Amino acid sequence: MKKVLIIGAGGVGQVVAHKCAQVPEVFGEIMLASRTKAKCDAIAAKLPRPIRTAQVDADNVPELTALIKSFGPDLVLNVALPYQDLHIMDACLETGTNYLDTANYEPPDEAKFEYKWQWAYQDRFRQAGLMALLGSGFDPGVTNVFCAYAQKHLFDEIHVLDIIDCNAGDHGQPFATNFNPEINIREVTARGRYWERGEWVETDPLSWSMTYDFPEGIGAKKCFLMYHEELESLVRNLRGLRRARFWMTFSDNYLNHLKVLENVGMTRIDAVDYQGRQIVPLQFLKAVLPDPGSLGPLTKGRTCIGCLMRGVKDGREKTVYIYNICDHEEAFREVGSQAISYTTGVPAMIGAKMMLTGAWTGAGVFNMEQLDPDPFMAALGAHGLPWVAREL
Ligand code: NDP
Repeated sequence: MKKVLIIGAGGVGQVVAHKCAQVPEVFGEIMLASRTKAKCDAIAAKLPRPIRTAQVDADNVPELTALIKSFGPDLVLNVALPYQDLHIMDACLETGTNYLDTANYEPPDEAKFEYKWQWAYQDRFRQAGLMALLGSGFDPGVTNVFCAYAQKHLFDEIHVLDIIDCNAGDHGQPFATNFNPEINIREVTARGRYWERGEWVETDPLSWSMTYDFPEGIGAKKCFLMYHEELESLVRNLRGLRRARFWMTFSDNYLNHLKVLENVGMTRIDAVDYQGRQIVPLQFLKAVLPDPGSLGPLTKGRTCIGCLMRGVKDGREKTVYIYNICDHEEAFREVGSQAISYTTGVPAMIGAKMMLTGAWTGAGVFNMEQLDPDPFMAALGAHGLPWVAREL
């Protein structure tokens, strides 16, 4: 029986704590630590078995190191914010502990994410004999594993990849984000980027769209091209890839609100002077927007996230779509969170289970598609995220 330290008690942290608590044979002891201990205690009170909770500032490496030493986990599961990734990896190296996260590092003062900062830890993790698993959420995460599964079983080469993320749910609020508003808005307002014939091509933010007809009654939705972090590792690790793009659905209502907020400067991430105090408009906006955690009881409908792949197998051209559909209300009934947090938290638990049971081993820094997809794909359905692979 192993010990896991979960850091971050937001929407995703709540799901991870529930899902780890459901698997006592792997997660023998659980500690949930975050900046605000009251949030950890509130989550702990809803779980079917006791866990420990603690207050920690994960940006303070000595403080975090002391907490890790006192609890002695086999794995630190990071579901705080991307800003904390490097500090938590430092504390893991300091204490000889394995590491997992769901989003790659972003410097707080620049709306940019890239794996280079975390890939730079490769030698240190390898030499220490430790494993760091990057991006074990849904996208990145399950989308990478879908690609690895397709590469292993369904294709000799994947030539064209479109990752399509559809949230067909509705929370009834005029404007709200489904996960941390600051991270979400930074991502959505960034320039688009896709990969074609060995080069990155940039597009203006949300300037390219397509309509995709989603399965199982979800129907046709408008999707917008965005840059997403899993593209960076997938273009390195998929054989024969010629083009890779990422798409996400947004409602007209969401886009109209976002445009106004951008136009009036509320999405800025540089500090402005307000009555003698420096404030960052996007951080202030986060404080007045609905807490994504509060959307759980309000959200109805389903998400559909998947990978559409075209390539060749045994000399024959084929197109395969692998996807999961997740129902917001069912997720809420099970763990008290909507499907965006659920589809992130379940794969985080499964990634941790892969590491702690020895199904995935290795020393160094890994992206999800570098590991055997089969045990992860088998665990997805068993833990609440069934998938479908369909040849089109
Ligand atoms: P939330 O904002 O709801 O939760 C973040 C939590 O981290 C909060 O409890 C917060 O504390 C805590 N935290 C922030 N800073 C620190 C710190 N310095 N020390 C300790 N704790 C800290 O975010 P979500 O739960 O929605 O998202 C969590 C992560 O999941 C993010 O990195 C996000 O990018 C990622 N994600 C990944 C997805 C995927 O598919 N791969 C999809 C969706 C999200 P406090 O409560 O005090 O603010």
